[in-house]
Amino acid sequence: MLVETRSRAFHEYSLDDIAQEFESDLESGLTAEAVADRYETYGRNELPVKSGKPAYLRFLLQFNQPLLYILLLAGSVKAFLGSWTNAAVIWGVTVLNAIIGYVQEAKAEGAIASLAKAVTTETTVLRGGQMLRVQSQDLVPGDIVLLSSGDKVPADLRLVKSRNLQVDESALTGESVPVEKSIEPLPADTPLAERTNMAYASSFVTFGQGTGLVAATAGATEVGQISRSMEQRVNLTTPLTRKFAAFSRTLLYCILTLATLTFAIGLGQGESWEYMFEAAVALAVSAIPEGLPAVVTITLAIGVNRMARRNAIIRKLPAVEALGSATVICSDKTGTLTENQMTVQTIYAGEQTYQVSGSGYSPKGDIGLGAGDTPENCFLADRLPNALRECLVAGVLCNDSQLKQQGEYWTVVGDPTEGALITAAAKADLSQAGMTSLLPRLDSIPFESEYQYMATLHDALPRVVYVKGSVEALLSRCSDTMTESGQSKPLDRFAIEQAVAAMTAKGLRVLAFARKTMGDRHHAIDHDDIQSGLVFLGLQGMIDPPRPEAIAAVHACQSAGIRVKMITGDHIATAQAIAYRMGIQQSSEVTAFEGRQLVAMDDAQLAQAVTDGDVFARVAPAQKLRLVETLQLKGNIVAMTGDGVNDAPALKQADIGIAMGKNGTEVAREVADMLLTDDNFASIEAAVEEGRTVYQNLRKAIAFLLPVNGGESMTILISALFARDLPILSLQVLWLNMINSLTMTVPLAFEPKSNSLMQQPPRPPGESLLTGRLLRRILAVSFFNWVLIFGMFEWAKATTGDVAVARTMAIQALVAARIIYLLSISQLGISLFRYLSRQSTSITQAPILISGILGAVALQVVFSQWGVMNVLFETAPLTWNQWLICLLPMLPMVPFAVLINRIDPRNLKK
Ligand code: ADP
Ligand code: MG
Repeated sequence: MLVETRSRAFHEYSLDDIAQEFESDLESGLTAEAVADRYETYGRNELPVKSGKPAYLRFLLQFNQPLLYILLLAGSVKAFLGSWTNAAVIWGVTVLNAIIGYVQEAKAEGAIASLAKAVTTETTVLRGGQMLRVQSQDLVPGDIVLLSSGDKVPADLRLVKSRNLQVDESALTGESVPVEKSIEPLPADTPLAERTNMAYASSFVTFGQGTGLVAATAGATEVGQISRSMEQRVNLTTPLTRKFAAFSRTLLYCILTLATLTFAIGLGQGESWEYMFEAAVALAVSAIPEGLPAVVTITLAIGVNRMARRNAIIRKLPAVEALGSATVICSDKTGTLTENQMTVQTIYAGEQTYQVSGSGYSPKGDIGLGAGDTPENCFLADRLPNALRECLVAGVLCNDSQLKQQGEYWTVVGDPTEGALITAAAKADLSQAGMTSLLPRLDSIPFESEYQYMATLHDALPRVVYVKGSVEALLSRCSDTMTESGQSKPLDRFAIEQAVAAMTAKGLRVLAFARKTMGDRHHAIDHDDIQSGLVFLGLQGMIDPPRPEAIAAVHACQSAGIRVKMITGDHIATAQAIAYRMGIQQSSEVTAFEGRQLVAMDDAQLAQAVTDGDVFARVAPAQKLRLVETLQLKGNIVAMTGDGVNDAPALKQADIGIAMGKNGTEVAREVADMLLTDDNFASIEAAVEEGRTVYQNLRKAIAFLLPVNGGESMTILISALFARDLPILSLQVLWLNMINSLTMTVPLAFEPKSNSLMQQPPRPPGESLLTGRLLRRILAVSFFNWVLIFGMFEWAKATTGDVAVARTMAIQALVAARIIYLLSISQLGISLFRYLSRQSTSITQAPILISGILGAVALQVVFSQWGVMNVLFETAPLTWNQWLICLLPMLPMVPFAVLINRIDPRNLKK
């Protein structure tokens, strides 16, 4: 069995020895039993998760806010003055605040972390002679893993095959230049960074292909040894939370100045020390929106959850905000806007055009000559014209994918484009297995978007190279073409271009095929070998229909003022045809640019092109970065999708970098802000919608919270300056701002999206959350609240002569009016309003808001009717009559709220 302590390090072994050591087979991999057995012994291939800072420290950090300093200080002064109950309540509130913050933070972090974990990494492994996709966590020592560019190395591997394999090991060694890999044994004392025959977990394949034997998994890997565990902390700060932090700091200074001034003025007028201190503390406490940070975190966390339910996994929290203000979405074509379900429909070979029937990957269907779209007669394998046959063979052999049959269904393991080629050949009775055994592969150049072709070398006399790729990439390397009978003749470029145009006009994705014979000394090929002298074999055109839901999503984006641009490696005409069918164009025609046109442009021309263009075709990954930058320079907030190795810089630069959860590479996923679990454009649109909802709900929360702070501060400031009894005490302010505000504001975080949300243009980038309009609304409601508190207090004091009762009544009246105001900005209120005015027949979105209101009412009853609360908060029990009077301010609030909504509809648009 496997020995744990080895006399040699992995890099010293020869290939045979390492296979023997791990009782594995380099050609066929482990057997299923061996895998099961080792899984028992070695467990999952994952590093234990470390929770970051210890819990107590994170709890203590909650106190690290300017606001809490003030409260702690105020409590201490109260204690010093001998008001121990007062001090205890203030301290109690700060602790409560810390608990709420701690729990919220832990929950939000947990949610994001578990979402990120749910996205699993897959690896291609060879087991029992079969290529399989498995989760990286299921790898066991001895497994044979296949690597290709873009993959994350899933475990420590001893490489057994390498084809220009280059690996970025910066995570491990700090060296940022990719390392070229080989397979020869190395001396024992080779340092880690120079062990070229090893690929270590946590590094990325940046180029080429390779095969490796899993030598160590989980904690036994080199990264595992260094860190033992993975840091899994999620960063909860976003531009918005930073703005809030800055906002509260500024607020704090203002308040401190104001409080000190009030204090000094009061003392100067001969007021008592205690009275003025209470006033100053109450003023400070009242002006600070204590509940706001918690509400922001909750709202963001809810947004993240809702997005996840709609297949968009947020990896970085700031993306939630950026999504809401996105002005441009640059999307891939294949797989994101289209189904990535390819079927070859047309073949051009030997100057003949053939039609292919059937759909999907099932080999049912025929190839025939036909003017229309259906083949008239079918060709059997022995009657196939030579050029057609060679074109199909090239498609099967120059291919890294396989088809799998599951009952009636056929699916592709690998690239759908390649799957379609296997199916097309199968329709002419050319099986992949048969062709591969007839012409075994010796070497290959994998497909990379940069080169736009793939080539394979096959064992025959003479050796033959098959090449497939984009028409442009191949035609420039061909001099001859194969005729129907198999002869060579000089290439007729014009005829081929016409055939291409006919296919692309229908939106077909076109691949060209070519071959070249070589001397039998050749065992390997590289790009130079196929620079020229290829014989053109033909074209295969495949349909990749647009996703119907993506078409709808494109329309939704457009009415939301968001521009959709297609960025693709595909042919310009194909891309244009698809874009036209999806309605991406801004004018009557699709404006399209090719990558090479963009290269030739200066900055000003490019800026114009990115604005006008709907489609950017034949774009190399490296160009995407410049596109993003140019769009951003024009003031756009850009969402950009990417899946390849070379898309990483553009994804990083974009405001929202989006990677594919299904088909994307690990490299792209690692840098992305967001992942699409279904690779679907419609999910981007859904995420934008949720992003906007988050922002709107935050606005609502602010519009709801701040007027109470405003009303309270005005009350205290004015009463203190006129040396009247304070209508509301600091402790009562705390109760209102913490307990009451939270119970009533949190439901706003759950507000559903409003119907008109995607009918409005994106919010201007850089617009602050507190717009002038919102500020005026807050001031107006604050003023209403001041009149209410002050009026109720003075009236009650005059009629009952009891200050405690008067204060309690003022508070209850404030909360009562607040309920109406809450309704007026919530969806529930709107549907209630519509229902009452007979515009709608149903009331929706009730449960959470109603429970918030009921909870708040219950708490208010306890607040004034329970003896303990009377002691703690200096409240007094109210009579039935007094309660009824407290409800009266609800009446003027109705017309007032309606009026304000008329003036300022934008924050609350339904
Ligand atoms: P897209 O943006 O549509 O995903 P790609 O960059 O993947 O475009 O492909 C660009 C072009 O490269 C395709 O139009 C096709 O001509 C060619 N191509 C795509 N996949 C392969 C492949 N597996 N082998 C050879 N050529 C390919
Ligand atoms: Mg692609």
